[in-house]
Amino acid sequence: ISSSLALPSGAAGASEEFIVRSQFPDTPLPTCGLTHVFLDQCSQFSDRPAVIDGITRRTLTYGRLIDSIHRWGAVVQKRWAPGSPPPTVGIFMHNCPDYPVIFFGTTLVGAVVTTLNPSYTAEEVALQLEDSGACLLVIGSELEDVALKAFKLLTDRQLPSPSLFVVGASRSGRSDLRTLLEDSTAPFATHVDVDPSSVAMMPYSSGTTGRPKGVCVTHGAATACSEMISSPAVHWTVDPDMADRMLGLLPFYHIYGIMIIMLQGLKICSTIVTLPKFHQNSFISALQEHKFTTIPLVPPLLKYINECDDVTREHLQSCHTVTCGAAPLSKSTAEEFNRKCGSFVHVCEGYGMTETLITHTTPKEGSKLGYCGKLLPHVQAKIADIDTGAALPPHEKGEIWMKTPCMMARYHNRPDATRDTIDEDGWLHTGDVAVYDEDGYFSIVDRIKELIKVKGFQVSPSELEDVLLKHPAIADAGVIGIPHENHGEVPRAYIVKSKKASVTEKEINEYMKGLLAPYKQLLGGIKFVTDLPKNPTGKLLRRVLAETAAKEA
Ligand code: AMP
Repeated sequence: ISSSLALPSGAAGASEEFIVRSQFPDTPLPTCGLTHVFLDQCSQFSDRPAVIDGITRRTLTYGRLIDSIHRWGAVVQKRWAPGSPPPTVGIFMHNCPDYPVIFFGTTLVGAVVTTLNPSYTAEEVALQLEDSGACLLVIGSELEDVALKAFKLLTDRQLPSPSLFVVGASRSGRSDLRTLLEDSTAPFATHVDVDPSSVAMMPYSSGTTGRPKGVCVTHGAATACSEMISSPAVHWTVDPDMADRMLGLLPFYHIYGIMIIMLQGLKICSTIVTLPKFHQNSFISALQEHKFTTIPLVPPLLKYINECDDVTREHLQSCHTVTCGAAPLSKSTAEEFNRKCGSFVHVCEGYGMTETLITHTTPKEGSKLGYCGKLLPHVQAKIADIDTGAALPPHEKGEIWMKTPCMMARYHNRPDATRDTIDEDGWLHTGDVAVYDEDGYFSIVDRIKELIKVKGFQVSPSELEDVLLKHPAIADAGVIGIPHENHGEVPRAYIVKSKKASVTEKEINEYMKGLLAPYKQLLGGIKFVTDLPKNPTGKLLRRVLAETAAKEA
């Protein structure tokens, strides 16, 4: 047993001594605002392409990117009434070069970013706008219809709509925000000393239970995370002379895209090539054209590369690192990937949550396939006995609890959910089941929270159940995730029809399509049942449904 694991010398009863601490030396943590993590360093590379649109080839150099960040910062400052709390800016865009401009221009001046999934329906957009209180919304022009429908829903509910900014050619005649951001006479933001304890961003996550909630991530948490993953022993040695080229396919609205592609990519002065969606042709063309050195992926994409004959070893010849996270990566998929693409590609797995940012990663030396890595500097973990909460020794399964400087401050306006997630001793209960070994490697083996992960995207069963229950022909509904060969998991609904009502699977699917994003659809099917398993207090027993599904399979 490695001494730095601080394991007990045989005192089985003293379970707190099984708390696992990082084996890496603590790094000094920065105290700057989020945007300053990369700003000063990148100004030395003003002619280097910072972000390229992988479809249109529109390019922002670092010089242009930094100027536009300051110009957007000035727009936000202009709309921030003196003495009032920081405004929240919603971003509803596919990945594109303007995304980091809006994101980091907002955080530059101390305002808060909330990111919306570009596949959201109007209903989902309206809910997040209402919940987050966003007063500015920046959208890609292709999403204008959805955004305007969402505004209509807000108006119908007598709620205010945010001020709208459109990037690209607007159908409703609004001016293109790019024109303003590229106007050399437009003003720059005035300097702000951002308080590290203030909230920088509010991505949405359902956490261990319930509907999606705004996760308040402070500047301090995000900058700490960037510094922790930059520790040389871990992985991302920052060498701006390296001229890294990074694929920007994973969505920027999700914490993985924010932390690894946008923040870390810009911090290492990489050239990021954005793709708005996964399409085989554009993906392969981008691999051929840009010869990426770093490729952030999720397990279904590694599997796709393994199985697709059109992606060859030559396409990854320049790549030294593939990062993988957001869902479990099986040992066999990782092995197959290395067989196909060559062992010179370091598959760097990471584990974390929107609520903790990144807590584990495969160290530079010593990959162990099938494990999600070791604790980053400053991080502590406890594998807690599910019944007693006692810290367990190596090789025993329990819920993984985390302590990290990158922990969320709270859920937005949800003190109850915050209390349920972070206990009095400061441990964040992840809802994942894990084990660790004597060398300090962790493996995620199960999930006890409600969350379903479809291609790495979060789907909240309670959100789907709430929508199902609003259908007049549905009396009761229970949603679970079932395994899926390509997507990892997909949602399945068990439905009790209302008395005398008649409704078909097709009708329910149509109804769901109108209200929820494509990845939340019931691809695992619908099963009509006469009742649902519940405990004496009426709580749905999802485990029983999962056992039923396993038997049926
Ligand atoms: P999100 O907040 O969307 O990033 O989702 C976090 C959840 O994704 C975690 O609590 C896990 O259930 C899952 N997850 C993330 N990374 C991994 C990983 N490397 N292995 C297994 N599950 C993961």
